[in-house]
Amino acid sequence: MDTKEKNQLTPEQRRRRAELRKRKQRELQRKKRRKKLLIGAGIAVCVLVLAFSIFQVIQFIGNGSETISARGETFVIALDPGHGGEDTGMTGGEAVEKDVDLKICSKLKIMLESQGYQVVMTRGDDTRLSKEERASLANASGADLLVSVHCNYAETDTELTGAVSCYQDGSKKSRTLAENIQERLTEESGAADGGCEAGDYTILNDTEMPAVLVQPGYLSNETEAAKLADDSYQNDVAKGIAYGILASLDRG
Ligand SMILES: [Zn+2]
Repeated sequence: MDTKEKNQLTPEQRRRRAELRKRKQRELQRKKRRKKLLIGAGIAVCVLVLAFSIFQVIQFIGNGSETISARGETFVIALDPGHGGEDTGMTGGEAVEKDVDLKICSKLKIMLESQGYQVVMTRGDDTRLSKEERASLANASGADLLVSVHCNYAETDTELTGAVSCYQDGSKKSRTLAENIQERLTEESGAADGGCEAGDYTILNDTEMPAVLVQPGYLSNETEAAKLADDSYQNDVAKGIAYGILASLDRG
């Protein structure tokens, strides 16, 4: 419309047009505000997602060092010396596995009890137990953690030496316990570090608490078998395992 036409508008029409313009302006401002709000919300969501990712990473790292808590007044630690009775386990020179396993566990028991912890053993003498009996004994004891001691044996490679610690697949507490034991055990005994791995053993699969199966050395290696039969070497192994257990406890 031209000026002429505009001038011809009645006051009422001009008022209406002015009102319409204002309304359009208000609508435009509302749209702008909404856009700003959306961008703000978008940024907030991004920050939240990022924060959550960081939190998850921290939690993951934290889980890596997850410690074991006591259910009762003090920690109850179950020790499981492998084999026993007519089940001798493997033999290397003078060393018989069932005896080595029991001696290390007995030393470990004294060390842990001296620290005020309660220790239960699946066997304290030369008796034979089934794998299932060991697991149910440990579960019935209400122990907070379990350490089973065995010796390794490599028929085809008699040169192979070193300690290996096996953990329950999928249990962070068990894995942490294995890593701590492995670290201190190799430190104290000087055994080669054979590493930690998930183990498919009844004593790991059927127990309800974090459990680790430790193999401090190979009876198939002559030198290591002689060491494993040695009292002071057994002390070092027991000390290493004890330190590893202590490092895994949430002692408040
Ligand atoms: Zn064994």
